[in-house]
Amino acid sequence: MADTEDLQTSQKSSQFSQSDLPELLNQYYKRLFPYKYFFQWLSYGGVPKNYFVHREFSFTLKDDVYLRYQSFVDQQELEKEIIKRNPYKIDIGAVFSHKPKDHKMIKPGAFQAEEKELVFDIDMTDYDEVRTCCKGADICEKCWWFMVVAMKIVDRALKDDFGFQHRLWVYSGRRGVHCWVCDESARKLSQNARSAVAEYLSVIKGGESQIKKVNLHLPYHPYISKSLEILKAHFVDLVIENQDMLSCKEQWEGMLALVPESVQNELNASWSTTTKTSRERWDELEMKLENCTERKETKDEIMFQYCFPRLDVNVTKGLNHLLKSPFCVHPKTGRVCVPISMQEVDTFDPFTVPTISQLCEEIDKHDKNTPDMIEDEKKKIPAFKKTSLVKPIGIFVEFLKSLEGENDNRWKSFRDEEERKGQW
Ligand SMILES: [Zn+2]
Repeated sequence: MADTEDLQTSQKSSQFSQSDLPELLNQYYKRLFPYKYFFQWLSYGGVPKNYFVHREFSFTLKDDVYLRYQSFVDQQELEKEIIKRNPYKIDIGAVFSHKPKDHKMIKPGAFQAEEKELVFDIDMTDYDEVRTCCKGADICEKCWWFMVVAMKIVDRALKDDFGFQHRLWVYSGRRGVHCWVCDESARKLSQNARSAVAEYLSVIKGGESQIKKVNLHLPYHPYISKSLEILKAHFVDLVIENQDMLSCKEQWEGMLALVPESVQNELNASWSTTTKTSRERWDELEMKLENCTERKETKDEIMFQYCFPRLDVNVTKGLNHLLKSPFCVHPKTGRVCVPISMQEVDTFDPFTVPTISQLCEEIDKHDKNTPDMIEDEKKKIPAFKKTSLVKPIGIFVEFLKSLEGENDNRWKSFRDEEERKGQW
């Protein structure tokens, strides 16, 4: 009992309280936000020259005051404005034909969104009909696995099927994940091409009223068979064991609605009169489907319908759609939107992502625990290195390193072109 109390107290000490948000954000933006790397990312090696300057940012301030079309000439100006405005949320938009902050001075029609990362938004609220543990904005260790499966499937397809090298996955701070595809070829995609990628990746079709949302046909397209391999590795643990999807009639009826009528009637009758675990029921259903001569795709369709990524395609399709920036702080949870390493996606735990209150405490603790270090020395260490932000920022830096090659090549061809024109 004492242990539990101790644990509760220790958790409470770094618990995030929303009333402290303005002050904590102020500390965070002054000491922890990784401006240098952030600017380096969005500059893409400085070619084209105005890439950062023409980028739209939007700020959501306290009391939902929303400022669109912010833009900055350099890192210093970005830093100064963020600290001054203390935004509750920062969104990143497109790279425009002109500086977004001048958009009112430009003649109508001339101000156009030209480029943007190809982005994906996966939100746990879209999984409500396939999870029994939580609803809405809530998540737990059990349903987080839907996000893990989604990241694996989308990431594999982006890499192997589209050849995109530079994919940055980010925890949204509460109940979902974002992906920023940063390859030059991805940033240049038209609205139509973005729609095509989103359509390619979407397998689940239809809204709440649609019972059967997945229709597969053998032989499968490689995207379906590759995705299926990932689904097979997770389906039983996630859907049958953890979500306990066949525990009661209300739940199993949903799954049986997807199978041929003969199997459906038989199992409905037998499951109603026996006590079995979800696992036992799944094994039985699996066997019946294997012996069933109708539609060989049914079992796979169930796996897709219950486990396959549910993308918010509108976010991906729109060139002009803004998306919450990495390293923002989620105003409700206080958690930082940290990058996720795909090498460690299985062990990423959203509940251990640092909150800003925790980070501020960690800085103080570090300084207190190093009494022998001279004040000047302490100041020389970047504040994030004194906190648990060190790992997520490390993941971001690794991502930036991988972008350098592409940035260098772009710089070289820019120089060659200038040389050819005699302007170098
Ligand atoms: Zn849950």
